[in-house]
Amino acid sequence: MSQPGKIAYRGKGNIYLNITNRCSSDCRFCLRTFTEEVYGEPLVLTGEPTSEEIERSIEVEYLAGPADEVVFCGFGEPTLRLDVVTAVSEWLRLRGLPSRLVTNGHGQLVNPYVEVVPALARAGLTAATVSLNAADPEAYELVCRPMFSKAHRAVIRFAEECVLHDIATTLTAVDVPEADVEACAALAADIGADFRVRSLIHPPERRDKAGREGA
Ligand code: SF4
Repeated sequence: MSQPGKIAYRGKGNIYLNITNRCSSDCRFCLRTFTEEVYGEPLVLTGEPTSEEIERSIEVEYLAGPADEVVFCGFGEPTLRLDVVTAVSEWLRLRGLPSRLVTNGHGQLVNPYVEVVPALARAGLTAATVSLNAADPEAYELVCRPMFSKAHRAVIRFAEECVLHDIATTLTAVDVPEADVEACAALAADIGADFRVRSLIHPPERRDKAGREGA
């Protein structure tokens, strides 16, 4: 029998939180299509953890030593569980621990009746890493295969709002030919965000364990 998916796990000096396996994208490069692990940890969940279960998992990971930041990431899109992200961010803020959201930027699309970025800012979210992945909507559709129309514009708007709310914001793009990383970098600069290129991990590399953040 395979191991149950980890809720909190360590990598690169951080504690990562795996709070859902659902996603509103179907990225061509998604790690979930060829591995069940990141940093050697199993991430396929049998159910979605509550805020309290996530907080207990963070406490257990902290027994091994402090972390630079606590990152909502894992094998799915965290903003599909916005209530949990805000509750745990608030819990982290009260303990003086920096939090970061790794997201596909669909937060407002999947939570249409909530002002998502203001809610994240109020909860004390410190930073956001937003996957842009393409400089134009056509390439975005090809690379990320989102379930929503006009998702590319929504991703940029999400990042713009994060910048406006003083959440330290980084746009990223996976290094695939359609991405046009130079244009993505220019777009990030336009909205006042940082930019980072993420390496494409090919399926054969799964033998070495996946070694980068998802989303
Ligand atoms: S947004 Fe992340 S989790 Fe969702 S399909 Fe893309 S890479 Fe996978």
